Order: sequence, then structure tokens, then C-alpha cells
Amino acid sequence: MKKILIAGNWKMNLDISESVSLGEDIKDFAFKKDLKCGVLVCPPAINIVPVLNSVIDSDVKVGAQNCYFENKGAYTGEIAPCMIKATGAEYVIIGHSERRAYFGENNNLLNKKLKAVLAEGLKAILCIGETLEERKNRKTFEVLENQLKEGLAGVDESISENIIIAYEPVWAIGTGEAATNDQVDEAHRKIRAFLKELFPNKAKEVLILYGGSMKPDNAAELLAIEDVNGGLIGGASLKADSFIKLIEIAEDILS
Ligand code: PEP
Repeated sequence: MKKILIAGNWKMNLDISESVSLGEDIKDFAFKKDLKCGVLVCPPAINIVPVLNSVIDSDVKVGAQNCYFENKGAYTGEIAPCMIKATGAEYVIIGHSERRAYFGENNNLLNKKLKAVLAEGLKAILCIGETLEERKNRKTFEVLENQLKEGLAGVDESISENIIIAYEPVWAIGTGEAATNDQVDEAHRKIRAFLKELFPNKAKEVLILYGGSMKPDNAAELLAIEDVNGGLIGGASLKADSFIKLIEIAEDILS
């Protein structure tokens, strides 16, 4: 049966009161509903605790956007997986293309972060995706395979239920132009095939999210694609109306 996770990546947006207000609006919608899809919001780390409080008693989950791979020590400015876990947050986004591009995070570092997240019993959302240049040079699948193989190196398939992959073509993030349905279908099928090589018995169950300008206008078609198990959503997750609409679209598909 199809599973869908609607995940909001708030990036470096929304101060504490805006974050709490958005959390409350989402909770008001989700509260006491038996939602079939999963709902996750990932605020800036400093707002994780207030957002957790704002969605308390609902099925809305909260995650972090990044972490370090050590659990304590002299790493000024970093946040440890165990600290994220202690807040009650359950997910961590790893390797968003903005972390790769602006903060120089490579597959080797991301593999360490992913393992540290999994070791805490948290769920890791590993982001992969090609740049426009890589797509133009027909390198898309090579890039995706490499990011998956190196990002998931040494991870046992027994823990794969805590791994989520987000396919985010870099050229579609924040541009308003999502990938076409065919491009998404093709990429997600390939990703599922690469996952089968890594997790022969569990690949079918790994959630593969699409990210890149998903919004209420295009979500119904994107979420209906067979190997799409949800969305990682930036811009459209910052307003209650559009995020709730995305949840409603997912619910329609699952009902
Ligand atoms: C993202 O930040 O992961 C993202 C997909 O952003 P947007 O939805 O704004 O393209």
C-alpha cells in the first residue's frame, strides 16, 4: 500500500512566534483527525522545542534540518543527534543541497552524519539530487547512484526503515519550476533500483520523497506517481494554507 509523508523544510525562516503560530495552525488541522499520511515539520533548530509544544497531542512530527556526527565536544555551533533526540524531535534532514553547496558537505561527511542520526534511533532524510549542469551532461543517474552509495555506505538494511530518501533536483528547488512528472517518475524508479542493490529485502519499503517546487497546483500529480512517497517542501510549507492543502491532497490520494 502506498505511503505518503508530507514534510516541510522551513529552512532559515520564521522566528519563534511565527514558528509556533504555524505549528498551531497545522495542529488545529491535524488534531483528532485520523490522518493516513505522515506530517512532519522541520524548523530551524532553535525553534524545535517551541514547535514541538505547539503540535503536542497531534500526529504532527518535528525534525531538525541538520546535525553534527559527534554527540558532544568542542564543536562550536554544532548540534548533536542526541540533543535532537532529547527534545522529542524524531527526524533529521541530512545533505540538503543547500548544505552541500553552501557548506561544502560531501558524501563522506553526510555518511557519518547519517550513521550518527540512525545510532540515536532517529529517522534520517537523506537528500540527493543533480544540478542542472549534471542533468544537461546526462550525469543524473550517475550522481544519484553515487550520492546513495556513498551516503548509505556501511548502513545495514535492518535499519533501513529509519531511512528516507528525498530526491531533490537542485535546479527545481526554490525556482517555482518542479521537475516534470516523467522526470520524477524516471528518477524515483532508478533510485528504487539503486536501493535494491543496497537493501535487497527492504528497498520496497523505503520512502522516497520528491522535493523541488512542490505546491498545491502540482502535488496531486507528483504524489500519485508510483514511487513517490511524499514531498519535502520548502516554500509551500511556510504558510498554513498551502501546507494544509498539500496534506489534504495526500489524504485524497490515500483514501
Ligand atoms: C527544499 O527546500 O527542500 C525545497 C524543495 O524547496 P522548495 O519546495 O521551495 O523548492
